Amino acid sequence: MKQNSEMKLIAGLLITVNAALGSLSAAITPVPDKVACAVADRHAFTQPDQVRLTGWLGARVEANEANRLVKIDVDRLLEGYRKRPGRQSWDGEHVGKWLHAATLAWVNTGDPALRHKLDYAAAELTKCQLKDGYLGTYLEKDRWTEWDVWAHKYNLIGLITYMRYTGNMEPLPACRRMGDLLCNTFGDEPGKRDIIKAGWHVGLAPTSVLEPMVLLYRLTGEQRYLDLCKYILRAWEHPNGPKIISTLLTLKRVDKVGNGKAYEMLSCLNGALEYYRTLGDPKILEACLNAWKDIVEQRLYITGAASYGELFHDNYDLPNVANVGETCVTVTWLQFNAQLLRLTGEARFAEQLEHVVLNQLFGAQKCDGSAWGYYVQMEGKKPYSSTLDGHCCLSSGPRGVALIPTFAASTDDAGVVVNLYDAGTAKLRLKDQTPVTLVTETRYPAEEQIRITLGLAGEKDFTLKLRMPAWCRATSVQIKGQLVALAPGPDGYVAVRRSWKDGDKIELRFKLEPRIVVGDHKNNGKLAVLYGPLVLAADADLLGDRLPGVKAVAFSNADLAVLAVSPEPAPDKFKTWPGAQVFRVNAIPRRASKSAQAGANLPIRLTPFADAGNGGAEYRVWIPVGQSEGDLLQDEKESRSRSGNVSGSITDGAADTFVVTFDGKAAAEDWFAVTLDAPAELKRVVFVHGKTFHDGGWFDASVGQPQVQVQTTKEGKWETAGVLKDYPATTATSAAGLKAGERFTCQFPKATKVFGVRVVGKPASGDDVRQAFASCAELLAE
Ligand SMILES: [Zn+2]
Repeated sequence: MKQNSEMKLIAGLLITVNAALGSLSAAITPVPDKVACAVADRHAFTQPDQVRLTGWLGARVEANEANRLVKIDVDRLLEGYRKRPGRQSWDGEHVGKWLHAATLAWVNTGDPALRHKLDYAAAELTKCQLKDGYLGTYLEKDRWTEWDVWAHKYNLIGLITYMRYTGNMEPLPACRRMGDLLCNTFGDEPGKRDIIKAGWHVGLAPTSVLEPMVLLYRLTGEQRYLDLCKYILRAWEHPNGPKIISTLLTLKRVDKVGNGKAYEMLSCLNGALEYYRTLGDPKILEACLNAWKDIVEQRLYITGAASYGELFHDNYDLPNVANVGETCVTVTWLQFNAQLLRLTGEARFAEQLEHVVLNQLFGAQKCDGSAWGYYVQMEGKKPYSSTLDGHCCLSSGPRGVALIPTFAASTDDAGVVVNLYDAGTAKLRLKDQTPVTLVTETRYPAEEQIRITLGLAGEKDFTLKLRMPAWCRATSVQIKGQLVALAPGPDGYVAVRRSWKDGDKIELRFKLEPRIVVGDHKNNGKLAVLYGPLVLAADADLLGDRLPGVKAVAFSNADLAVLAVSPEPAPDKFKTWPGAQVFRVNAIPRRASKSAQAGANLPIRLTPFADAGNGGAEYRVWIPVGQSEGDLLQDEKESRSRSGNVSGSITDGAADTFVVTFDGKAAAEDWFAVTLDAPAELKRVVFVHGKTFHDGGWFDASVGQPQVQVQTTKEGKWETAGVLKDYPATTATSAAGLKAGERFTCQFPKATKVFGVRVVGKPASGDDVRQAFASCAELLAE
């Protein structure tokens, strides 16, 4: 082992299990940086050992450590490094992501089994480094073409986090060699490679190595690492670059940056904020704040998810099902808010943190912590998985949960800041090193009261900052039994400055009540129910026998008095923590029938989005308002012969969204189908035409008009019930003047009970005979 000054530094580190404070966590003094930051953090939250959560948040943090992080097979993580090129092209990212999450979790819990794994992983990973410093999973001939700068990014993040908190600096030479290799390989000098071309998504993927290169610069003080960071910022603005900063300063829209790839872009922005912290360029912060505002106002789902199809899209273009809510995006969005909170000290970022943690992040984590979902959409089934294969998100989710203790409570120049409310203990140090303990007792968000007791050696003058949730209409704060006036400061926190004494009690009350969000754009005609900070969802496991699935649920109107939402203790299957609740609400059957009178309320129970679908059942956030008297197929399960390249729906009641079967190939037949859980009696079927293109998008009627087929038994055989008689005389190459939105009807001779209906025909090829496809906007039935 090479001796150097960094390693000598370790002798001065204090690493003990702090028995005096009665904490299980490892009491840590992080390894200091050599380079001071130009921008001082407003909030100090670099130490996950200070906050021990024991309520709902604590249960999820603990489950993440005990049922996921400590259970990971480290040899599986190293497989692609030990035997290159590994099982798939970006398999190299997992070990660094695990090192980051597991280190934070170990600092929080002090679990010796996890520490043992960490030491093994760090040592074994560095053994896989090649002589020239390369620590990716690619063969030499394939280097720097896809995801290996990306893997170096995560290896640096993981190993730097490991060194910082364990004090074991043995991986430092390996990190330096990685940094040196990147510096020698990429740059705008002659003979060096263009980093934009070294990976996917207009360079967003490889250039996200900015974040750990800034960290490596600060840790070592090596100027060349900073030079590489400066080169990356220049490369962003090259003609072939993603133009991150310039786009965010001018257009102020994240969907206009690069190709809009959300995970990679937010990873770059997290690096940009690290760069801002180090050098203090205000334009960088301005660009990031523009990105934040744009996402919050135009591109954020109600649960805190922030993408579909892994991209940012046009304003309010937020379909409920279209590979919505990639968990990697959820976690980098969380990190982005945590960075902004740390840098600015503004409560609006803590507000987003509470919202994304309690809804989308926990919604992606299986309640017992053992598995994660990749796309966690606004309806459907939670796609929980516990393997890493092909799942970037499976190693991202645990990072988000492991970060929670770092920002739940912290300190600033004036005193103590409380961001998240959960039972537990925070052992903090004021700026002058005075120790202050906060013991919080609550079952929030299942209980309105939050009691915080201060622990102090004597008397101390400081400010206690409390985040008042923006969703809450009635908050109160009592100190030692006296109500205090609530006037948030410019940073958004209620600040109470006084001389505090040991045992002083602060009692907060956040009135928990239901709220309705009336849907617009793609959720026109639907509403979502929230309770306190929680987004609620229907879950098929809570509906009983009266409604056949979540799509059979509707609300009579958007009136809270009619819905009469009230919490009650969760039944056993939904008791994911001692305070778990479900929410009784008056619903109506979606479809009018003789047995269910219009307007008759049917009490059902909703569950928090975080717990929805945990038992494997279907769930749904946005619930239609009013009974469907016209279209019997609305919101039912849709499918088509080929998935196509447009994300739309034929059952959403909106004729402006359409789908296609385009895949660049020819086909003899295409179909658009809707199937039902419970049978419906149909008298007629209406096919609303989708968009036509130069190279197809219609049915070729020269071989016969498109047929309407039905299933008379569940998942039964398709039988022809009629044709779309008015369909024009199209050919393979002529759309015969067809327009998007045109309606074609097939009338049945008598009402027919069906479980499914589809329209089938021969797709048209337009001017490109090598392929053919059809298009549909809606399939309706009465
Ligand atoms: Zn992912």
